[in-house]
Amino acid sequence: MEWRVRFVDYPSQFQGMEAELMGTVRAVLERGDLMLRQQLRDFEDHLAQFVGTKYCVGTSNCTDALHLVMRAAGIGPGDEVVTVSHTFVATAAAIHHTGATPVFVDIGPDHNMDVRLVEAAVTPRTRAVVPVHLNGRLCDMEALMAVAAKHKLVVIEDSAQALGASHHGRKGGAWGLAGCFSFYPAKLLGALGDGGAVTTNSAATAEAVRRLRDHGRTPEGDLAGWSFNCRLDNLQAAILDLKLQYLPRWIERRRALAAIYQAELSNLPQVGLPPPPDARSAFFDVFQNYELEAESRDELVARLKEAGVEILLPWGGRAVHQFPRLGLGEYAARLPRTEALFRRVLMLPMHTEVSDDQIRYVCRVIREYYAD
Ligand SMILES: *Cc1c(COP(=O)(O)O)cnc(C)c1O
Repeated sequence: MEWRVRFVDYPSQFQGMEAELMGTVRAVLERGDLMLRQQLRDFEDHLAQFVGTKYCVGTSNCTDALHLVMRAAGIGPGDEVVTVSHTFVATAAAIHHTGATPVFVDIGPDHNMDVRLVEAAVTPRTRAVVPVHLNGRLCDMEALMAVAAKHKLVVIEDSAQALGASHHGRKGGAWGLAGCFSFYPAKLLGALGDGGAVTTNSAATAEAVRRLRDHGRTPEGDLAGWSFNCRLDNLQAAILDLKLQYLPRWIERRRALAAIYQAELSNLPQVGLPPPPDARSAFFDVFQNYELEAESRDELVARLKEAGVEILLPWGGRAVHQFPRLGLGEYAARLPRTEALFRRVLMLPMHTEVSDDQIRYVCRVIREYYAD
């Protein structure tokens, strides 16, 4: 099927930057700089600067970043880690693979962790909380940091969807012990495959993750213990370093597209939109996704697809606890707002290659659907 509006558009982004991308690939290959070289160190420095942390360590992806940070923080069997079920399974899987147990709290109207519910979920076994900054909007970090301090919880931010987003001027990934980022191609800053990073102000955490990602090797050539191979490829780092220069422009473009959705759809009583981009807000949102709620969601999605608009439901339409084989079904009764959201939620096209007119077309299809 030929889509009129694609959900993501990798070929157009390539066409727009072809000369620079190919020049970067050529330079890396000519020098043979493939593993743990200067391009990786440069990218780590630039990302730390961008996020506002002292350190950054590149990793194979965000799932591994989360896993390694939790190991570095000593989280393991018998521990509980509080997070949300409205996230990619990776967040919960990273907790699971340390031997700890993920504990889910419900979400608020912003579709993010309702931080007021964290305190009630704390038990003597709770060691950490993993806020997930979904769709390019931070959780209420000021409130969460206060709860975490009171109960001595480690805060590890799943910032996979929030590179560049901030709350009271402090960016995602710069609040907790560490932030974990994804450079999966559809993310705000996308690699040519998998990639991830950890940002932190803790020298000990940065050093531990640096060792853990590379078999436990120490600078002296010793091994710190049994470990993993979770390195960020040097070629990917060079590409990411190039693309990072464009990120502020891409964020502005996404905010401009969100403003069009807001202008065209906010008077429809059948839809619930995310907060619009607002320069005066304490939240600076980067709109990794444009996630909204809609009445008669399934019919609306069918209508949009007929009209050539590619639509995705978050995580294929299910929260983590709604995948039966993970054995988390008990949460169905405990997360009423997550359950309700997944009957109404969908994501509209939001990427830097889409035109204003294409977004207006999507809005017209939606308005016409509800007018019928
Ligand atoms: C993409 C994503 C991840 C996983 O990132 P990978 O780099 O693919 O491992 C984790 N959490 C959230 C919220 C994500 O969106």
